[in-house]
Amino acid sequence: MAPKTVSIDYQTTRVLPEPDVFIHCSQGTRIPAHAAVLASVSPVFENFIDRPRKHRSSEKIIQIHGVPCDAVIAFVGFLYSSRCTEEVMDKYGMHLLALSHVYLVPQLKQRCIKGLAQRLTTENVVDVLQLARLCDAPDLHLRCMKLLTYNFKAVEATEGWKFLVKHDPWLELDILRFIDEHETRKKKSRRYRMEQGLYGELSEAMECLEHICSEGCTHVGPYDSEVKRERRPCGRFSTCEGLQVLIRHFATCEKRMGGGCVRCKRMWQLFRLHSYVCHQTDSSCKVPFCRQFQLKMQQEKRKDDAKWKLLARKVASAKVMYSLSLPKRKRDEEMRGTINNHGIRSFKLL
Ligand SMILES: [Zn+2]
Ligand SMILES: [Zn+2]
Ligand SMILES: [Zn+2]
Repeated sequence: MAPKTVSIDYQTTRVLPEPDVFIHCSQGTRIPAHAAVLASVSPVFENFIDRPRKHRSSEKIIQIHGVPCDAVIAFVGFLYSSRCTEEVMDKYGMHLLALSHVYLVPQLKQRCIKGLAQRLTTENVVDVLQLARLCDAPDLHLRCMKLLTYNFKAVEATEGWKFLVKHDPWLELDILRFIDEHETRKKKSRRYRMEQGLYGELSEAMECLEHICSEGCTHVGPYDSEVKRERRPCGRFSTCEGLQVLIRHFATCEKRMGGGCVRCKRMWQLFRLHSYVCHQTDSSCKVPFCRQFQLKMQQEKRKDDAKWKLLARKVASAKVMYSLSLPKRKRDEEMRGTINNHGIRSFKLL
């Protein structure tokens, strides 16, 4: 069958001479073009065109097969005009990415990477992913992996995925590994946030404890000053009310001696933690047991001492992190949201 020459709109205002090169593509179609233009935008074409031919007079022919002819026409159009419409991107984005990669046309490659990333769906993601790997497009590859991770159930049902499982088990393994690592990362950061929340609460509890024991608040105050009857509910700490209830319970609980009451144990933990974070080394600190704990710490090296010191450091750094990461108002709101007003959350250490 004789090749059919198509006429092409080069979308350029340049005055072009007669075509001197022909691109042959599928279905016997011939696209006329200009060697100088092709060579100026693609080093691969340049190499090809500069190659000596058997017969000087013979026509220069470039073969591009394996992609639809209209995609090649769109490709040639871009080489002349540096333009590519959204419709063309919709239809031939994947072909154009492959062509731009093979013929080393970076501007078109970038345009396709962006265009395909915007058009990613659960239906096409597997195909685009494979192409991104072949065409060395890491950004697009990552976008595909993320979409796959978040929509894995839907992707799993597509023909593209079924085909991949059958024919490319290594890629399947790669994707599953990526999803797995993503899950692990998510769990880790969730755990970190929870821990930070707990240290933040403890840090506030420590400040609140000092406030109650040195200044006194609604119902509880230092032994050497009167608690005024008309005091209003604490405006400084959302935990204050709960902590005062806990302290009052601690002072009156009958089970305390046996160490059986959970609330008393909690209070002991808070007093002990305070002694680790307290900076007052003389006896001026008004928090109960502070000095006793500190002396005990010096006298005997207890087995769990290191754990307490670590906790104290984490609580201190949570305070710094917390005050750096959030503006004041938001911080207060968040604290109010997370802290149970009826008591201080227990921490697992003993
Ligand atoms: Zn208070
Ligand atoms: Zn008790
Ligand atoms: Zn103290």
